[in-house]
Amino acid sequence: MASPESFDYIIVGAGSAGCVLASRLSEDPAARVLLLEVGGEDTNENIKAPAAVGLLFHSEVDWDYRTVEQEAAARAFYWPRGKTLGGSSSTNVMIYARGQREDYDGWRDEHGATGWGFKDVQPYFVRAERNNRHGPPSHGTGGPLHVEDRRYTHELSHAWVDAALAWGLPPVGDIAGASPQGAGLTQVTCRDGRRWSTADAYLRPALDRENLTVRTGALATRVVLERTKAVGVTYLRDGTEHFARADSEVLLSGGVVNSPQLLMLSGIGPTEVLREHGIDTAVVSPGVGKNLHDHVLAPIVWETRDTSDVILDLLTPENLQQWTKTSDGPFASNYAEAMAYLSVTPGVSRPDTQLTGGPTAFILSGQEMPARPVFTMNATGLQPRSRGQLTLASKDPQEKPLIDPRYFTDPEDVTTLLRGLRTVIEIGEQKPLAEFLARPYMPDSTDLAALDEATLANHIRTWSGTCYHPVGTCAMGDSDAAVVDPELRVRGVTGLRVVDASVMPTITSGNTNAPTIMIAEKAADLIRRPLTS
Ligand SMILES: Cc1cc2nc3c(=O)[nH]c(=O)nc-3n(C[C@H](O)[C@H](O)[C@H](O)COP(=O)(O)OP(=O)(O)OC[C@H]3O[C@@H](n4cnc5c(N)ncnc54)[C@H](O)[C@@H]3O)c2cc1C
Repeated sequence: MASPESFDYIIVGAGSAGCVLASRLSEDPAARVLLLEVGGEDTNENIKAPAAVGLLFHSEVDWDYRTVEQEAAARAFYWPRGKTLGGSSSTNVMIYARGQREDYDGWRDEHGATGWGFKDVQPYFVRAERNNRHGPPSHGTGGPLHVEDRRYTHELSHAWVDAALAWGLPPVGDIAGASPQGAGLTQVTCRDGRRWSTADAYLRPALDRENLTVRTGALATRVVLERTKAVGVTYLRDGTEHFARADSEVLLSGGVVNSPQLLMLSGIGPTEVLREHGIDTAVVSPGVGKNLHDHVLAPIVWETRDTSDVILDLLTPENLQQWTKTSDGPFASNYAEAMAYLSVTPGVSRPDTQLTGGPTAFILSGQEMPARPVFTMNATGLQPRSRGQLTLASKDPQEKPLIDPRYFTDPEDVTTLLRGLRTVIEIGEQKPLAEFLARPYMPDSTDLAALDEATLANHIRTWSGTCYHPVGTCAMGDSDAAVVDPELRVRGVTGLRVVDASVMPTITSGNTNAPTIMIAEKAADLIRRPLTS
């Protein structure tokens, strides 16, 4: 029998984190790196065009998950995740956000994640970034990840920001900075009006390195252990099972669903799950799959009137033609154009709510698109308290696991969203936005301000959706529930780390792509010698 292929590092998953690792680790020509990705090349024509993001839902580049029925909402939620080179950075809404200083200091102080306080992680955000407006010391201008002011912003989004200021929020000059507070326009991970994923930023520039091997269409099925040492990975490709040996380390970057699934399939997880599925236990790790949490967004949608640019559908042939020629116009919109960070809880100054929206209704989960032009503004609770879990449905690696974020099981999460929606409604009454809003579309009411608490809470349970930021299923820390230590090594195993959004012990107070890229940048330094930057 031929001896197995061997590499120094095997990375599972070419997503936001995996592409960073593949690029950084292969900078050392002596390091042999294998990157396995189950999705295909990122050639889907809708990936590049920001406004086409909704067309990626349920497509071949989407895992197209659904949660189990959520007991506090009496329904299941659609859960997209990217399945192609770039992972979810190839299918996300492109908002660039870092979260708040307190998030990272909390990882360090409350979870024992030594080395992950804000002052420790800030240099890695900066190293990754190439911002077209903001510069040092808090932003990077020479990194691989392009971040820019969006090339197209609808007048309604400008009007919303002005209305938010009239309501009382301060303007934010740098909404992509540390701990933003107030209202402004989003910055996006785009380069000259086109999506810039981690496959663009990190992987493609490294592809001609002889020491980097990338295999698409390759589903990792198990981490192979010799006693408690990871020595390689089995994977399915073209209907055949292969084994690749890792002489140094196996690095799991399959994301919040797949990393814990793969650990459990490899015998690393809670005893009861391994026993139920007849998987031999290699290492008992009770926290695998636990601590699942996510941001939820709840919308208010209005029909609009009298806008100079009447938008019913951004995806017209004319808009496509304009974007193809000049990379601007409505096709360069990522929908989530306007944003605010604020606290809606009396007596609390740290922002606990994000408002995000723009000139369409793309967030409507499961509802038909309205036949008239609309404007949507969503509220999201930034520090949700509900905690769920991810567990196996089967020991077949091709079967999707059971995803149960247990949304709204902590009633405080509904309270925060209620207060957030009240703010959205009040901002909608301010000039200059109010003149553009013809009538409420969702909830269907003639007087939003008069809606009672029960009606609004029911609206939240019925129409909210994931904000696409699940984290926490392989949490880092120093407690017994922690799956990885602060160097992201799986506790109880040698030669195995998890490097992706699943290691966040608590969710960051904003969108999670840039924080995941930061985690992978820092992980690269933990794995190899620190780079001089
Ligand atoms: C629709 C959507 C909108 C979003 N909008 C924003 C936004 O506007 N701004 C923001 O900051 N964040 C946003 N996010 C969140 C952000 O993109 C994610 O938090 C981040 O991409 C997670 O990175 P990751 O590396 O953990 O996982 P991913 O990027 O999901 O990568 C995991 C990769 O591993 C592959 N994989 C999984 N299992 C296996 C296996 N067994 N074998 C081989 N390959 C495997 C997957 O196919 C995938 O490519 C959004 C996410 C989605 C889905």
